[in-house]
Amino acid sequence: MMQFKIGLATLELIRGNIVEQDVDAIVNAANETLAPGGGVSGAIHRAAGPELAEACARIGGCPTGEARITAGYHLKARHVIHAVGPRYSGNPRDAELLASAYRSSLLLAEQHGLQHIAFPSISTGIYGYPLDEAAPIALATCRDVVQSHSEIRLVRFVLFDEETFQAYVRAAQNLGLIP
Ligand code: ADP
Repeated sequence: MMQFKIGLATLELIRGNIVEQDVDAIVNAANETLAPGGGVSGAIHRAAGPELAEACARIGGCPTGEARITAGYHLKARHVIHAVGPRYSGNPRDAELLASAYRSSLLLAEQHGLQHIAFPSISTGIYGYPLDEAAPIALATCRDVVQSHSEIRLVRFVLFDEETFQAYVRAAQNLGLIP
């Protein structure tokens, strides 16, 4: 586990399962239909129960780069923020859409008064975003938001495998987040 302070907020990198996190909101790496998929989305929907898919169906979808919020139902987390990252295409716009997915999630958390939020590594699974490109975008975007919006107190990256965890540690070092 790695932890660093950004202003009043703590940014954490841990290896683990996002479904088990006891935070105000966990973020789902969703798709534009908000239908349960594979990967982290499948795990979140299984743990939350069918009510989550029903709530997502009522919302009706979410464009890439944006986020939507629902209750957490049977999860420990009271809320799920469904963020839609880009499918990696190699286009420079990918980076902007990925940053926007993180930014939108944090702004939505703030609007709902949520202070502790956990993210998976959005877009680096089925959506094919190279880890060493995605990790610095994820960390720099969260750093920038918590520096300018001080209500968020904890941003935890819950990284499922060692390769992903190490990519985030390297990115944190390269960004100078680790002293
Ligand atoms: P995307 O379609 O946005 O690429 P994926 O769910 O395929 O989303 O993968 C995103 C990341 O989430 C990958 O690093 C994957 O290993 C990871 N992941 C899968 N299951 C979990 C889980 N239960 N908790 C945290 N991360 C997970």
